[in-house]
Amino acid sequence: MARIALVTGGTRGIGEAICTTLKEKGYTVIANYGGNDVKAAEFTQRTGIPAVKFDVSDFDAVSEAITKIEADYGPVDILVNNAGITRDGTMHRMSFEQWDAVIQTNLASCFNTCRAVIEGMRSREFGRIINVGSVNGQAGQYGQVNYAAAKSGIHGFTKALALEGAGKGITVNAIAPGYVDTDMVRAVPAEVLAKIIKTIPVGRLGKPEDIANSVAFLVGDEAGFITGSTLSINGGQHMY
Ligand code: NDP
Repeated sequence: MARIALVTGGTRGIGEAICTTLKEKGYTVIANYGGNDVKAAEFTQRTGIPAVKFDVSDFDAVSEAITKIEADYGPVDILVNNAGITRDGTMHRMSFEQWDAVIQTNLASCFNTCRAVIEGMRSREFGRIINVGSVNGQAGQYGQVNYAAAKSGIHGFTKALALEGAGKGITVNAIAPGYVDTDMVRAVPAEVLAKIIKTIPVGRLGKPEDIANSVAFLVGDEAGFITGSTLSINGGQHMY
C-alpha cells in the first residue's frame, strides 16, 4: 500500500511542488492549508490531491484534523512541516502579534503536528519527518527576528527529535531553502529582491521544484541513514 504523506501549507508555492512531486513518486498525498479556500480548491482541481483546512498553530485543531485524516486515509508515514508565514519588521517596530504569529505558525506548528503523528510512527517503527527551515534561520535577516528565530528553532527541534526517533525507524531532517520564487518572495519589494538575487552565486531564485526534489529524496527508503541533518538548498547563497 502507498505510504501516506501529509504536507502542511501544501496548496501553494513550495508546498504544492512537494505535494505533486510526492504524488508522482507514488505516495498518497494530503495537503493542508490555512485559510485560502479558493487557492485550495484550485489546487485540488489542478492536482487531484485533497486539501484539508486547519490552522497549524492551533494544537487542538491539528490533533483533531490529523486524527480524522488517519481515520479517512490511514496512518501518516511522512510529515512535511512546510506551512509558514512572514510578518516582517525591524525589532523597534515589531508588535508582539507579529512576533507571536510567526513563532506559532512556523515553529510551534512543528510541535503540534509531530505530537499528533509521533506515537503512531513509533509503534509502526517507520516515519519520515521533514521540517522546512530557511537560509534566514541559518544566517539571520534584517527585519526578521521573528522569522529567523522560528526557523533557527526548527533546526534544533529537528536534531532533538531525530535522536528520539533514530531507534524507532523515524528519520527527522530539515531543509533550508534559499530564496524561492513563490508568493512569499513575490511580496518582497522588487528593488530589494534584485539586490538579493545578486547575492545568489547561481544567479537566480530557486524554483519550488528544486526544493521538492530534495524532499522526495529525504523521505525515500534510500535516505534511511540520513537523520538530524539540515540540507541547504540555496544556490550557494549561504554555505553553512
Ligand atoms: P507560500 O506563502 O507560497 O504558501 C504558504 C502555505 O502555507 C499556504 O498553503 C498557506 O495556506 C499555508 N499556511 C500559512 N499559514 C498557515 C496556517 N496557520 N495553517 C495552515 N497552513 C498555513 O509559502 P512558500 O511556498 O514560499 O513557503 C513554504 C515554506 O518554505 C515556508 O515555511 C517558508 O517559510 C519556507 N521558505 C520559503 C522560502 C521562499 O523563498 N519562498 C525560503 C525559505 C523558506 P493558505 O493558502 O490557506 O494561506
